Amino acid sequence: MFKSIFNKLLVTYLIIIISVISILSFTLSLAYRVHIFNKKEDSLNSVAKKVQDVADQYRNDELSKKELEAYLNSMGYTTDSSIYILKLNKETLENTKSLEEENEFMDGYLIDDLKEILEDNVIFRKKHYSKALDTFVVFLGVPLKSDLGIEGSILIFSPVNEITSNITRMNLIIWGISLIAMILSGFFIYINSLRISKPIKEIDSAAKKIASGEETKDLKVVSQDEIGQLALTFNYMKDKLAETESMRREFIASVSHDLKTPLMSINGFIEGIIDGVIEPEEYKESFKIIKSETSRLMKLTNDILQLSKIQSGVLQLSKSYLPVRELLESIVNNAATITNDKDISIELNCDNDLKVYADRDRLQQILVNLISNSIKYSHDRVNINIIAVNKENNVEFRVIDKGVGIEKDKLKLIFEKFYRVEKSRYSKTGGTGLGLSIVKNLIELHGGSIYVKSEVDKGTEMVFTIPK
Ligand code: ADP
Repeated sequence: MFKSIFNKLLVTYLIIIISVISILSFTLSLAYRVHIFNKKEDSLNSVAKKVQDVADQYRNDELSKKELEAYLNSMGYTTDSSIYILKLNKETLENTKSLEEENEFMDGYLIDDLKEILEDNVIFRKKHYSKALDTFVVFLGVPLKSDLGIEGSILIFSPVNEITSNITRMNLIIWGISLIAMILSGFFIYINSLRISKPIKEIDSAAKKIASGEETKDLKVVSQDEIGQLALTFNYMKDKLAETESMRREFIASVSHDLKTPLMSINGFIEGIIDGVIEPEEYKESFKIIKSETSRLMKLTNDILQLSKIQSGVLQLSKSYLPVRELLESIVNNAATITNDKDISIELNCDNDLKVYADRDRLQQILVNLISNSIKYSHDRVNINIIAVNKENNVEFRVIDKGVGIEKDKLKLIFEKFYRVEKSRYSKTGGTGLGLSIVKNLIELHGGSIYVKSEVDKGTEMVFTIPK
């Protein structure tokens, strides 16, 4: 039952709402009950006061006994109560038998109350069954006072029915409203639980579809809250997965092609040598080709291995303070053979004393990669500029060429694994699409960053920083 988030939300909210409403209703009905009995007590007290006044008038002979009785009857009638004046003292109180015979309202429990009243106490009982009146009554007993002291008791009995029916009516109203409130909140809780759990269910079923390799549509983002954010992130993840999957497929296709081509060439030459189709004097040339094809295969496998090493955190940097100019000069000198083929010259712009804290081999690898890309994607007889300057806590490197450039919409993709701008260009340049991804990962491993500025047919500028 509690396995689904919908049930959890629904049951939790319902328990909270039902408890809160029930406690409120219970408190309200209790408060009403207390209030109505307090009111009754106040009204009986004021009746008792009036009775005391009339009794005083009777004692002073201002009223006859008949007038007194008529007054008590009419007051009893208007207040829906029975009023008695009982003259008493401690001795008459002892004679309970005659008390019960003389007074039709006298009940056993009243004897104890009368003792209390004679001690100048007021007695108020909320619900007592009066045998004499054969009904439940509210009872008030107060001392009857004269100048000489307490001379008896004023007793007022009022049927409790009206009060209890008022309380019942009020309880019905309170609990009726509570029930409506519970039903309404239950409805809103149901809608809200559904609103929260439905998108989560949709994300779950979309995730299962993706896991089983099915295609899914983008999830609808219906809110701005965390769940909306989750749907957005899910859609982003889905797109990324699709992108990576298509890159992976493309890569496998390209890599298989790239593995196949040199392997077939190597195989062809070896078969030629074994079958004697290739003459011994052509062996040297054949072995040269076999060597170059083997190197191509090694580069591909090395690139893949290195990228996986960086990304799995196995590759460790061994950093030291390096003289930047010296490093750049050695790279440029080594690149001379490739640049000579295209008649490209490389210009260096770097202070003699500029130093950077980096792993020599890796920084060299980064620069060689960027410079050889610039050479690869440049036309013959152009310049390539390499600039290195101090910038705050970093050394900023720029590798600038006037080559073919990169289209704007491809710029953010070139650092992705296996991405190559043009497949045909790939076969000419022999690239794998891993170079820039390795470069970016190595720069980030140093704590730096890289970005590219480029315009088609005008050239490309690769800018990266390495902390000093
Ligand atoms: P590759 O091994 O194919 O060169 P990279 O990761 O080094 O792979 O580069 C990714 C893609 O970015 C290349 O296929 C190329 O199209 C483009 N690119 C990289 N550097 C340059 C550049 N200097 N000028 C133009 N295009 C470039």
